[in-house]
Amino acid sequence: MNSLTVDERELEKIYERQLESVLFSINQSVQDKVSDITTMMDRDLGVVSDSEWMDELSTYNFFWALYLKDANSPGEQLYTLGSHKDDGLEVVADSIYSKNTAVFSRLLRYKEAGDFMKIEKSDNPFFNNGKELDFFFFVLGSGESAKYGIYFFDAVLMIEQYLVPKFQEIAREDFILTCRRISDGYLVYSTSDQAPNSIQSEPIDLLPKYEIGITRAGGTVEQAVNRRKSQSLLALGLLMLVMIMGIYLVFRNIQQEMKLAQKKADFVSNVSHEIRTPLALINMFAETLLMDRVRTEEKKKEYYGIITKEVSRLTNMINRILSFSKIEASKRTYDKRQLDLNEVVKDVFNTYSYHLENNGFHYHLNCHIEKLLVNADSEAMTEVLVNLIDNAMKYSLEEKHVAIKTGLKGQRAFVAVEDHGMGIPKNQLDKLFEKFYRVPNGDVHDTKGSGLGLTIVKHIMDAHEGTVEVHSTPGKGSTFKLIFPLYKEEDV
Ligand code: ADP
Repeated sequence: MNSLTVDERELEKIYERQLESVLFSINQSVQDKVSDITTMMDRDLGVVSDSEWMDELSTYNFFWALYLKDANSPGEQLYTLGSHKDDGLEVVADSIYSKNTAVFSRLLRYKEAGDFMKIEKSDNPFFNNGKELDFFFFVLGSGESAKYGIYFFDAVLMIEQYLVPKFQEIAREDFILTCRRISDGYLVYSTSDQAPNSIQSEPIDLLPKYEIGITRAGGTVEQAVNRRKSQSLLALGLLMLVMIMGIYLVFRNIQQEMKLAQKKADFVSNVSHEIRTPLALINMFAETLLMDRVRTEEKKKEYYGIITKEVSRLTNMINRILSFSKIEASKRTYDKRQLDLNEVVKDVFNTYSYHLENNGFHYHLNCHIEKLLVNADSEAMTEVLVNLIDNAMKYSLEEKHVAIKTGLKGQRAFVAVEDHGMGIPKNQLDKLFEKFYRVPNGDVHDTKGSGLGLTIVKHIMDAHEGTVEVHSTPGKGSTFKLIFPLYKEEDV
């Protein structure tokens, strides 16, 4: 990820070539300028007067001094011109000349061979009057009139005057071009306010003490690669996170599916047991009656009673399963109307009081004095209440007491079914309403059930925008509270 792609490498190459062409163009400018000056000197030497010649040279603000020597009698110095000629320049220029006589002889040979005025640069440090100067060597004229020359100038001024416009023209908004003195890194010019470290830099041909640097305005290719790297890492991190989440979800789903499968298996065994017991009882008592083996009327009545009770248990069971399968298939519909909760509760209570009494229960009904109008399906309400009363009875083994209460809680109506039975441990409360769930308790297996009753209750309450609250203390009893929104005119 860190390494450069083929494209990026290509970009770098383009970049290098770009620098080469920038350098070429700048070198060309310096060359042209120096050529202008030497051509002018060659053309006018001996033709115009010294002062005119001097004026021509002085049009360039970077000109410092000129040193000329006759090539045929080098002992004789011809000119040292320029305003700085008295600053001890002559002596120094003389010594430069003496050290470079070989260079001058070579330049003279070129000049005479093809009338080609070659210019020789020098990167020796040279200070005059506390100022670092640049200079180049050349030969003027030829034959008898040939002259050796050293042109002293201020390179910084030359760069500022002739190269800066060139820099600006080349750089535009794509590049940052800088020019620095190599010896001390002094920044002569930059096309941008900031002068970033250049990625590529090369000295200028005729100004070897100065170098040009180039940087891409949008940062280096490496920076772009680094940026891409962090973006890719971030994307990779996110991908990993999504994958981990995916794996976690799949794992959780599998776990849930396994739990559900286990619960379904329990459900099937519970239900078969629940169906088989009443069927066996019905079968046994019906056969006894059919064979006329029962002597007394009283006994017959008792057997009929048992058969009726078991049939109703079977019916209840089957109704519950049908109701649940309708809910599961999302086919359950509700016929909601304005109802008085008190009335529904009283109806169910009246039907159940006999059943409660028969099973040895004390019971108690406490209705709110005013009507509790709700928008509900009366059959579904009955189903919910029957389920809760059924559970209260099933799970009260010793203290058999059921109390039903209706009332108002803020802007909501409620029905509470309270028992003094075995209660439910706190850690089981949030699972009660899951389908097929039965509290894993030794006693529960003795108590018949399918784990569907509370699932149906929850579904019906949701469909009525109601909620179910459970308060329970193990060993002391439970209260299931159904809370409904009150009837509103817009419910019609
Ligand atoms: P079940 O057919 O097993 O009664 P429910 O969905 O009606 O199924 O109830 C789920 C479980 O909640 C029950 O198995 C029982 O453990 C627990 N439960 C429900 N009501 C009561 C209650 N009144 N007292 C104690 N436990 C209860």
